[in-house]
Amino acid sequence: MKIQAINGFKDILPDTAVRWRHIEQRARDIFERFGMREIRTPIMEKTELFVRSIGEATDVVEKEMYTFIDKGITMRPEATASIMRAFIEHGLHVQQPIQRLYAIGPMFRHERPQKGRLRQFHQLDAEIIGAVEPRVDAELIAMGQMLLDELGLSVSLELNSLGCPICRPPFKQRLVAFLEQTSEGLCEDCKRRTQTNPLRVLDCKKPTCRALVKDAPSLLDALCPDCDRHFQEVQGALQGLEIPFRLNPFMVRGLDYYTRTTFEFLTTDLGAQAAVGAGGRYDGLIEELGGPPLSGIGFAMGLERIALLLEQRPEGEQPTDTTDIFIAALGQATLAPCSQLAHGLRKQGIRVGIDYSGRGLKALLKQAARINARFTLIVGDDEWASQQGILRNMTTQEQQPVALVGTTDELSRRLAEHLQVLRH
Ligand code: ATP
Ligand code: MG
Repeated sequence: MKIQAINGFKDILPDTAVRWRHIEQRARDIFERFGMREIRTPIMEKTELFVRSIGEATDVVEKEMYTFIDKGITMRPEATASIMRAFIEHGLHVQQPIQRLYAIGPMFRHERPQKGRLRQFHQLDAEIIGAVEPRVDAELIAMGQMLLDELGLSVSLELNSLGCPICRPPFKQRLVAFLEQTSEGLCEDCKRRTQTNPLRVLDCKKPTCRALVKDAPSLLDALCPDCDRHFQEVQGALQGLEIPFRLNPFMVRGLDYYTRTTFEFLTTDLGAQAAVGAGGRYDGLIEELGGPPLSGIGFAMGLERIALLLEQRPEGEQPTDTTDIFIAALGQATLAPCSQLAHGLRKQGIRVGIDYSGRGLKALLKQAARINARFTLIVGDDEWASQQGILRNMTTQEQQPVALVGTTDELSRRLAEHLQVLRH
């Protein structure tokens, strides 16, 4: 019987991996422009970490976690909790009061697999810890927007504030009172959430629930003066950075630790999977996990969803793997020197393709095209004897002679330089 991958766990094949690498490189580049530094944490943590940070009554903790019950450990469903755990454990704030951290890696949630929704998925995660100023919120959001812009993706940004432990509890009470009146029409999940996690009812995606909560009280009208000021300043700073956004008072993130600013980057191009990335402030989280009373803000973007959007871009804008030169070794006598030349060129940092099968020129040129070689060096027995190969530009089809003289090292260096010149 053929063994296949587990449902919801996906292979990233080379044609897709090139797109992923492009996204990751762009992300690293942009994050580092904003002074972010990489952190890598384990993919498993004590279950308690996620229960305490994400919240017991959230979908993630209630239904989606991969937990080894007998071991008390869980495969991470998101990155923030682990990063905060590491931040506290290593006292990172002692070295540097404001920490800007990013992480890239797999996350695990037991959800129903579909397009853009997997059980092992990958996130680009960014966190700024220790800064309270609204401008920092705007800067972090602007960084996410810059990444999506530079990848050529069009997304819309929605913004909300979830208030704080002062203004949220009285709002929650009002909301529960409202929901209890309308509870008849709510879906089963939302009936339950009315008691366990009433704010989540506001962003239920079911049309019937949406219609009912349209008239629910709005958190944005209920913010305390401090939260209100913070939120106004975030909006002002975003406008200053020319980042367009839309207020959405119904957006409630699925993780309990959020306070104040929350945001989502949305697309209309992925069916039901509208959120490309999302994040917010988590001012009480670090203290809740036993750390110092520091605030933080972060976001996570889904690599799969970004890759799917990138795939929809025109062919010419797709990142591809390329080879600098393919060596077409024709004839038995050329195989050994050509393999040495390939090795020498690779030492010079050149991406080389070569084939030892002894196939004819037509087949080898086809192979060169398949691996996106920019040049092919054609070396048959005659060329080898006369110490003159043919360099073919695979784009223009132009051919020019190249001298095959000197030691392998000399030849490799000369050819490598020649390729550099041709590249510019
Ligand atoms: P959704 O509403 O789509 O379930 P979420 O609110 O659960 O998303 P977050 O926990 O905020 O998502 O994670 C941030 C990002 O990670 C999402 O915007 C999405 O791009 C991605 N993501 C979340 N869950 C999955 C998944 N199961 N498969 C693929 N990507 C995911
Ligand atoms: Mg989810």
